[in-house]
Amino acid sequence: MKKVYNFNAGPCVLPQEAIDASIEALKDFAGTGMSVICVSHRSKEWEAVMDETRALWRELLNIPEDYEILFLGGGASTQFLMVPMNLLENKAAYLETGVWAKKALKEAKGIGNAVCVASSADTTFNYIPKNFEIPTDADYFHITTNNTIYGTEIKYDMDSPVTLVADMSSDIMSRPVDVKKYGIIYGGAQKNVGPAGVTFVIIRKDLLGKVTRYIPTMLNYQTHIDGGSMFNTPPVFSIFAMKETLKWLKAKGGLEAINKINKEKAQKLYDEIDRNSMFVGTVANKEDRSIMNVCFVMAQGKEELQDEFLNFAKGKGMVGIKGHRSVGGFRASIYNACPMEAIDALIACMQEFEQMHK
Ligand SMILES: *Cc1c(COP(=O)(O)O)cnc(C)c1O
Repeated sequence: MKKVYNFNAGPCVLPQEAIDASIEALKDFAGTGMSVICVSHRSKEWEAVMDETRALWRELLNIPEDYEILFLGGGASTQFLMVPMNLLENKAAYLETGVWAKKALKEAKGIGNAVCVASSADTTFNYIPKNFEIPTDADYFHITTNNTIYGTEIKYDMDSPVTLVADMSSDIMSRPVDVKKYGIIYGGAQKNVGPAGVTFVIIRKDLLGKVTRYIPTMLNYQTHIDGGSMFNTPPVFSIFAMKETLKWLKAKGGLEAINKINKEKAQKLYDEIDRNSMFVGTVANKEDRSIMNVCFVMAQGKEELQDEFLNFAKGKGMVGIKGHRSVGGFRASIYNACPMEAIDALIACMQEFEQMHK
């Protein structure tokens, strides 16, 4: 297999151990003589996978008993709608920190009264707004903890006077989280916890049953709580691969351990961006810098070298470092499964490029 360093933003790098175990299960699942994609989701072998996956989530994130963990279809994008459908009665408040946050707000506005408390749209979302006020009469306050496209991140568990709802698609399981501070945490699996096709929703059960609207069956969280995430056929392969990804994470030492590594990886790369005369980081405020998505552009006066660097890096095995079209430049997504070796290779590449243009 070709040696590459995968910096894709999602779908993205996953642990090789999880991929290998998933390939095995595709051939012969749990000694059943059948592929994991061919067994009944009502079989005891599959029920065991569901139980183990839920248990891993609970253990790794320390999810309290009054919260349910759901595995659904539809991606984080469907959660943009399900959250207001299930929780919005009088008013919802949103923090607009990027395109994903904007999309979440748009869906809420389609359901009821939703307000934006602060936005960083004025400077292409290159910082996290501070000193905003969360309206105390809101049913919930929605945040996007990691802004995948812009490389900003809320790296702490915010205090909120109302129910806090977080899209954690791209930083879930990158650090310990105090789940009790949130009413709902959701995200697509395809950045840190598995392949695309499954969406996780961690929800405090007492939040439900309070809105007066009719909620369509499939969009009602209660349906999926009652059905144990198997009201309809679950995405079996994605869930299996997610289980294996979480097993890998547990073997790595869990969230404290991975967070330490993630911080080291991000620090190393940001240090090089700050030092290297060819590049500049797009997020100036250090406390807002994401440890998952590192965004940078060519330094002033070097802009015309952008494509040359992209090609140079590609030749050295770097994959997926082109920035999102709305930001330009480069983005290195350095999720849990991205090894330090990849960071070192990218840094070496940046240093060599600087030497070439001395
Ligand atoms: C990728 C991403 C999404 C979209 O997820 P889908 O599962 O593709 O709908 C939403 N929010 C954030 C923060 C993301 O990074």
